[in-house]
Amino acid sequence: MPSFATQPIIASYRFEELVDIPAFKRLLERFYETTGIPNGLVDADGTLLAMSSGKNACELFHRMQPASAERCRESNLDIMRDLCQGQISGGICRNGLMDYATPILIEGRQLATLFLGQIFHAPPDLEFFRNQARQFGYDEESYLAAIAAIPVVEKVRAEALMQVMVEMANMLAQSGLAKIRQAALEYEVNVHSERRIELEDILESSPVAIGWSNSDGNVEYINRQFTHLFGYTLEDLPDTETWYRLAYPDENYRYKIIKPWVNSALLAHQTGTIPPELEADITCKDGSKRRVVVRISWVGPLRLVNFTDITERWKQDQRKRAQDAILQMVAKGVALPVILAAIVEQIESEDPTALCSILLLDKEGQHLFCGAAPHLPDFYNHAIDGVEIGMGVGSCGTAAYLGQRVIVEDIQTHDYWKPYAQLAQSAGLRACWSEPIVSSRGKVLGTFAVYHPHPQSPDAQDIERIGFAANVASIAIENRYAYEELERRAYSDYLTGLANRRYFLEQAENELARVQRYGGLLSIFMLDVDHFKLINDTYGHKIGDLVLQHLANICKTTLRDLDVIGRIGGEEFAVLLPETGSDAAEDAAERLRRALADTRVTLPGDKTLSFTVSMGVVTLEGKGASVDTLLNQADQALYLAKNAGRNRVCTFRQVVGHPTMNGK
Ligand code: GH3
Ligand code: MG
Ligand code: MG
Repeated sequence: MPSFATQPIIASYRFEELVDIPAFKRLLERFYETTGIPNGLVDADGTLLAMSSGKNACELFHRMQPASAERCRESNLDIMRDLCQGQISGGICRNGLMDYATPILIEGRQLATLFLGQIFHAPPDLEFFRNQARQFGYDEESYLAAIAAIPVVEKVRAEALMQVMVEMANMLAQSGLAKIRQAALEYEVNVHSERRIELEDILESSPVAIGWSNSDGNVEYINRQFTHLFGYTLEDLPDTETWYRLAYPDENYRYKIIKPWVNSALLAHQTGTIPPELEADITCKDGSKRRVVVRISWVGPLRLVNFTDITERWKQDQRKRAQDAILQMVAKGVALPVILAAIVEQIESEDPTALCSILLLDKEGQHLFCGAAPHLPDFYNHAIDGVEIGMGVGSCGTAAYLGQRVIVEDIQTHDYWKPYAQLAQSAGLRACWSEPIVSSRGKVLGTFAVYHPHPQSPDAQDIERIGFAANVASIAIENRYAYEELERRAYSDYLTGLANRRYFLEQAENELARVQRYGGLLSIFMLDVDHFKLINDTYGHKIGDLVLQHLANICKTTLRDLDVIGRIGGEEFAVLLPETGSDAAEDAAERLRRALADTRVTLPGDKTLSFTVSMGVVTLEGKGASVDTLLNQADQALYLAKNAGRNRVCTFRQVVGHPTMNGK
């Protein structure tokens, strides 16, 4: 963590704090002893810190007499005034002695003043001092003796000595200052590192990933959650540029999204507004992606960035959207394989290391067929397609068989996969977790499987995911069947499963139009159960229904696949016979009549029941006929058959040739 201390460590300091004053005092005494030159040191406030002068004329006389003492004071003021220039100042004091003063300047500030003085540059003029003794009432003899004791030092030498002392004082003060600075720095460092330790302790346990970089863009700290979330350590991220490159490997994304965002955050910082957040995908060290909200802030020169992981919420949102999209596809009737492929794609996008497949169980509930497996190898899908379910038939065959989730962590060692281990190996598949797709009524419809290329067990999220996929797939598959069911109801008769009246008429219209356009043959039967009322009355309505179902089945097995059989009334049926001329139609009708007459319907109590039908046949002749006309003509033939004694086939040609039926 860098120092925040760009401001001075010590705002102000005094000379006494920088220099060992008793030691300096001793130095000044030694100076006085060797040179005889009196000296003194005054701090910035004017406090006398040290003085060595012995009992000289000044001390014994000048400062003792009020008038001469006043001169001392005035002289001091003169010299102090000159000091303001920051130079050695000196001159003859008002009592006739030479005085010098030099400021001790540290970092441009005058911390103290060094005085040298009470000397002569040349032997004194004794007459002057004799007069002075008289003027101030000193004892002349002892005053003159004191004046004679004052050292005579040449100006140049005095100034040189002064300079030595000042440099010494400066040096001591500077080194004192350096020491304080060092101490202060150490203190700051300690405080900071303590603060840093406290901060790091807090950040280490933060659920939010945090990192900071200094003003040079060097990443200095990332917390535990950062490494936990993205996998990177501080060693991986020397600077922010490296981070950007690793976290956002897409250069385009970096330049179009990340850089502009960083710039707008910087601008916000400079203008004192709140930096914008960014929702971004971070590429982790292991290549996986995390969705995060990134926030930037500044602490001093540090750029602090925190990342809130919203991957799960985001995935849930994505999944919700995917689910909505899939359900919409279901509602719109999009083909089932397309919907199943969309489910697979969604799950694979959530877990990029996974390959998924959906297998569908056939109607008999015996075999699995490929529903969607867009990213599994074709040869693999091919080999699995149609596999019969059972215990030990891989993960899916077993899951479909048991109706339970089957987790195989390692295909190569698992019993369920023994028959398919080689196949899976060729396909690069090593783990397979399979979830049965179960209908709302509890019927197994298929399986949803997740494959991985390495042995792997699912975590809670994986389980939740395959559960989701199986559930959506179940909705899609069930709905497909429910369509199919609607269609079946729309087109077929509920009792017999034959085409209902509407569908039969529609088919008849289509077929007639086709024949009229392209030519070809077309015949129609009309069929009615003989004395059906009697059957109902004798055996009851249920047995009547059973007879109708038998009749439908005999029709289906006796007639061709392309013939359309419709139930057009209670116990009235019509058959559309494409590409069938009159002879073939009469043969088919006769064959059907006989088959029906030969049918024995088994009743409860081992009794049997037989029934007969009457049939009318019409064959299209010419081009003008409508379906209505044809049905009407077939009906007339049927009527003829009934009249002729029932259990027989009549044709419309017979109606036309019949003396009473054709109205002649
Ligand atoms: P005919 O030989 O002249 O056709 O005699 P019939 O008794 O069959 O006479 P008709 O066709 O008039 O009677 C049809 C009867 O079929 C009347 C009705 O109660 C019965 N029926 C119609 N639909 C059903 C049905 O779905 N189930 C049963 N069990 N009976 C039906
Ligand atoms: Mg009838
Ligand atoms: Mg009838």
